[in-house]
Amino acid sequence: MAYDDQNIFAKILRGEIPCDKVLETDHSLAFNDIAPARPVHVLVIPKGAYVSSDDFTATASDAEIIDFWRAVGEVARMKGVEKSGYRLIANAGEDGHQEVPHFHMHVLGGASAGPMMKRQG
Ligand code: AMP
Repeated sequence: MAYDDQNIFAKILRGEIPCDKVLETDHSLAFNDIAPARPVHVLVIPKGAYVSSDDFTATASDAEIIDFWRAVGEVARMKGVEKSGYRLIANAGEDGHQEVPHFHMHVLGGASAGPMMKRQG
């Protein structure tokens, strides 16, 4: 899938719309989800134009990938969920129910995430 630079996270990165920033690093930005599903719900995104996890890991530089994963861990520690636990989710594409086509990791915590997913059938 080609990157759509009109997606909402691209607009946040360009400063065209605001976000509730949690952390900014050289290559990544983390901000609170606008519709939190748990008490802690932060989105971590690379600053580069990547659609999905597979796109990011295939085409981003090592520095961007390292920076991203360090940012995900830092967010968990900043939000104090590293002891109580948290869930990471990265939706991709249609079957993954991805709404915003800019790669992002959901960091969810502060309450039980429940079972991983309903089993089909
Ligand atoms: P996904 O379904 O994985 O693409 O998730 C997209 C997430 O982006 C949802 O949890 C939305 O609540 C969140 N979201 C959409 N617009 C914004 C925004 N302007 N600021 C923060 N989070 C947003």
